[in-house]
Amino acid sequence: MDVITASAPGRVNLIGEHTDYNGGFVLPTPIPQRTAVELRRRKDGLVRVWSREIGAWAEYALGDERRRGGWLDYVMGCTQALRLTGHALEGFELKIASDVPLGSGLSSSASLELAVLRAIRQAFGLAIDDTQLALLGQRAENELVGAPVGAMDQLCASLGQAGSALFIDTRTFATRLVPLPDDLDLLVIDSGLKHDHATGGYRTRRAECEEAARQLGVPQLRDLGVDDLARVARLPDPLARRARHVITEDDRVLAAVAALEARDLRTLGELFVASHASMRDDFEVSVPAIDTLVAIACADPDVYGARLTGGGFGGAIVAIAKAGTAAAAARRITDQYCDQSWNQNRDQTRGTPRVLVAQEAACSRS
Ligand code: ADP
Ligand code: MG
Repeated sequence: MDVITASAPGRVNLIGEHTDYNGGFVLPTPIPQRTAVELRRRKDGLVRVWSREIGAWAEYALGDERRRGGWLDYVMGCTQALRLTGHALEGFELKIASDVPLGSGLSSSASLELAVLRAIRQAFGLAIDDTQLALLGQRAENELVGAPVGAMDQLCASLGQAGSALFIDTRTFATRLVPLPDDLDLLVIDSGLKHDHATGGYRTRRAECEEAARQLGVPQLRDLGVDDLARVARLPDPLARRARHVITEDDRVLAAVAALEARDLRTLGELFVASHASMRDDFEVSVPAIDTLVAIACADPDVYGARLTGGGFGGAIVAIAKAGTAAAAARRITDQYCDQSWNQNRDQTRGTPRVLVAQEAACSRS
């Protein structure tokens, strides 16, 4: 029987953090790592799945998708979302292999969902466009997995293109590809820190943003701009700072798009630095070890700017660097971070950093 292959990339968010649930703007870009799947149709209603990363087979009957609390939920979520939107499926066998690190904030989950959905779309000839496909992936994760995620990861996995960032208006799902200058290197370094209160912190911030919007009399913070900051400052603390982060961050995403289009990497770097300061001081989702990692990266002569990427309370930093310097800069940054931790009595509050992406510019490869 015919084998169908499909794949989808992981992503890193360049700028626009905690803006998605406020209806605002984000700017992710696909990373080189992808999840790939092989699909073979079956004559019955069974779905059998192998994951190379998990090293196991699992199976379920179509129509019997339910949360089991494991990795199969991501696949079951996809077939359930398809069935609930009226698409007829039959059973299949699926083999998954991914080089996106699992659970490191590079969205292995969305890359898995989109690889699976792309393969199913092709195998069963389903008429679904790429935006709808992304929203099905989001639905899989929201409903079956039970993670209240926005659609950024899936939209980037579905519509993103290597060498471009994807500007997303999370209110309308309008998207626009913004080519990355070919003299820009991209770095993602994981801090090795995972904070237990990440979920709780996320929930609190979300509630604070909703409360700030309510007190300001707008549906979402997206509906305010930098001209409203004087009014925002009159909110009680910490709501004023939370709202200021979201409003200025939306503005920085727009400025980052303009900087990319103007190939102005210096300005882009400054926007990264301002975004990090806002996440640290106004939104309070950074931690000292991440601030240190960002400071070390920003002090590197080849780095234009760096910031915490993702929800915060640990996780990874993203940096942009001069063409052809990513690998060497990543090594310098991680070495210096480790040296400092060692010198400060093997500081246990710091994780072991890991370079996740050191993507050298298109022009430095040619
Ligand atoms: P992230 O998306 O940032 O990598 P998540 O917690 O959202 O982190 O998703 C990670 C989960 O997605 C894994 O724990 C696993 O259940 C599932 N997953 C991702 N990639 C694979 C894979 N290749 N094989 C099996 N499960 C996977
Ligand atoms: Mg995920």
